[in-house]
Amino acid sequence: MGITLRNDWTLEEIKDIYYRPLLDLIFEAASVHRQNKAYSEVQISSLISIKTGGCKEDCAYCPQAARYQTDIEVEPLMTVEKVKARAEVAKANGASRLCMGAAWREVRDNKDFDRVLEMVTEVNDMGLEVCCTLGMLTYEQAERLKEAGCFAYNHNIDTSSDKYGDIITTRTFDDRINTLNNVRKAKLSVCCGGIVGLGETDDDRVKMLHTLSTMEVHPDSVPINRLVPVEGTPLQDNQIVPIDEVLRMIATARIIMPKSVVRLSAGRNEMSVAEQALCFMAGANSIFAGEKLLTTPNPDFDVDMQMFKMLGLTPRKPFKEAVSN
Ligand code: SF4
Repeated sequence: MGITLRNDWTLEEIKDIYYRPLLDLIFEAASVHRQNKAYSEVQISSLISIKTGGCKEDCAYCPQAARYQTDIEVEPLMTVEKVKARAEVAKANGASRLCMGAAWREVRDNKDFDRVLEMVTEVNDMGLEVCCTLGMLTYEQAERLKEAGCFAYNHNIDTSSDKYGDIITTRTFDDRINTLNNVRKAKLSVCCGGIVGLGETDDDRVKMLHTLSTMEVHPDSVPINRLVPVEGTPLQDNQIVPIDEVLRMIATARIIMPKSVVRLSAGRNEMSVAEQALCFMAGANSIFAGEKLLTTPNPDFDVDMQMFKMLGLTPRKPFKEAVSN
């Protein structure tokens, strides 16, 4: 039986899946995932911060917001040479995608953007998939990224539209959706997911998954992040989300967006190998590797390779077809 992609999920249907007994849910997600040809392949992405801190936005989880007193050291935009050196290391360690993140509210048409375009071209020429996460951007800017060789653009919706205003007040949920539309229109691969642990309810999580799975085209990749509370941010005292709740998110995402790459993203450093194995079983098929995930600690490449070997997983090669439905 082939995989059917649906964009007409109802909230009730997604709730019905999300609230199933956990092992039933994981079993079903694993069954769906095994219909994908390359179910044992896991993409390794490396995420680097090309411009750190000093951001004008007020995302309550983010240590890079200028208004919060955190230990982050503000760093200007990296040189192209430094990005290339980081990309070489990532590639040598098995990464097939390099994500470049800049702590900007939005992209401006200036020399910094020109430099980012140069980085994109150089890293693309090295045979890596290039993903950028630079804040809001216009259709024209998305096109320029595409022309420079960018493969994907990350822009998370973070949480449900209801919860969004509690977490970010400096831009709206609709601003996020507009940028995503610009990205899609420019034919960049869309990477869009969210974070658990912001103080949201289960219904908020279901609603976020509903927004993602009812987009005209499912995001090609769906990062599921577990909040790593950082001292100095408004969410510093939030509890770490238990693994069963992370598993529910991954498994539900896998079932309702069966062809999307589900990324086990922030928060993996705090997970055991057994917990990560359950995430892969539930359909996660991408990780971020490398010692830092933007500014928070992350397992190192070698540790991940040992885990892959133990679990019989193989790193995915770059440049496969984006999901389309
Ligand atoms: S826009 Fe990005 S860098 Fe700026 S505060 Fe929000 S998450 Fe942090």
